[in-house]
Amino acid sequence: MRTLQTFCIRTYGCQMNELDSEVMKGMLERRGLTRTDDETTADLLIFNTCSVRDLAERKALGKVGRLSRSRKDRPVIGITGCMASAKKETLLEKLPHIDFVIGTNNIHSLNEVLDEVLSSGSRITRVDPLFSTELDYTAAQRDDPIKACVSIIRGCNKHCTYCIVPYTRGPEVSREPDAIVDECRQLVDKGYREITLLGQNVNSYGKDRQEWGTLFHDLLYRLDRIPNLSRIRFLTSHPVDISKDLMEAIRDLPSICEFVHFPLQAGSNRILHKMHRSYTREEYEDKVASLREIVPQVALGTDIIVGFPTETDDEFEETLQAMKRIRFSTAFLFSYSPRKGTPASRWKDDVSEEVKEQRLQKLIEEQETISYNEMQMLLHQTVEVLVEGVSIKDKAMVKGRTRTWKNVVFPGRLEQIGTVVSVKLHSFTNQTYVGEQVKQDAFLIQ
Ligand code: SF4
Repeated sequence: MRTLQTFCIRTYGCQMNELDSEVMKGMLERRGLTRTDDETTADLLIFNTCSVRDLAERKALGKVGRLSRSRKDRPVIGITGCMASAKKETLLEKLPHIDFVIGTNNIHSLNEVLDEVLSSGSRITRVDPLFSTELDYTAAQRDDPIKACVSIIRGCNKHCTYCIVPYTRGPEVSREPDAIVDECRQLVDKGYREITLLGQNVNSYGKDRQEWGTLFHDLLYRLDRIPNLSRIRFLTSHPVDISKDLMEAIRDLPSICEFVHFPLQAGSNRILHKMHRSYTREEYEDKVASLREIVPQVALGTDIIVGFPTETDDEFEETLQAMKRIRFSTAFLFSYSPRKGTPASRWKDDVSEEVKEQRLQKLIEEQETISYNEMQMLLHQTVEVLVEGVSIKDKAMVKGRTRTWKNVVFPGRLEQIGTVVSVKLHSFTNQTYVGEQVKQDAFLIQ
């Protein structure tokens, strides 16, 4: 049987994929393989792919093709992730150099698949529609020593018409609360100070398992009790599932950071309906108002798509006006491109690329102005910063983030990494503040 000594994993797409790659790294290291970053020499190459955007798919496929042609030896090559789930065995037909295809719901079977590939030389596809709870998250090998992502729910039941995720990751499957709390405790014992809870819709957590009696805000209360866990973040929230209980948990629990990313996607009710987002712009803005009333210092993040099929100039203008009113702290802005297999891909992509680009530029400019003004407002204030590492540009500086996700650098020392300090902000460039540490008991704002 052929043996493998080294492996290299290339990851595309979101933090869920990053976490899945960390789990696969751990599984392979437990198997005795050594990690390398050199894809030209690794015995095993895994491409953990993304299907959310066409570009991400093309990038991954291009890379697989180039490497397969350039390598003289014959590495074992596997494709995992959303593209594997979406394209299944057709990838084996298309790419003769690929040995295995493992979907997002089958990562737990990586070693078994490898055994079969190595012993029989067969080419294998494992893609199940439902996530297997067998996946051992505690195997994850994380590179960051301070911050870790922890999966709490996989899949999505919302079926937005432009999105491939419900077809690649399947329906929502919540993870047992005890397993989440245990993993977070273990991470804190290892020195982790910030945990980001991950899910396509974190705030749907527990709705598929009513018998647990644990919804998302209940889980936050349990996690907040873990000693020495400085910060908890979560990604992504669906506007419909943002409850008053959740808002109050953000207000009341010291470890929960006051930052909520919940995608608006569009400001026109007709387009929201066509996207199957199941809320109106007014309902969204009502949630924003309640959130700001309950948690005044909260910062908001969003995703917005421009040029969705049939979007008119007036409807785009509604999105722009909504952005001006809401004033997001961060916004991921995209122009629409159809994803094969989604309901929207059957509709005519009738907004020209030129118009999409113009609309996108308008939103980008608006967001730059909003962000600049927001950065100005925090100047000369003292904020809480979790020190995450040494600044890449200046080794005499350390870097970290505020509770509301702002980058900060200040003169500091290696020993401060992993500590929470008070920093007075005195200037900023682009999206990063420069400051200086002040006494711990200084007045803190977010
Ligand atoms: S909520 Fe909508 S956009 Fe988000 S993962 Fe689910 S289907 Fe996709």
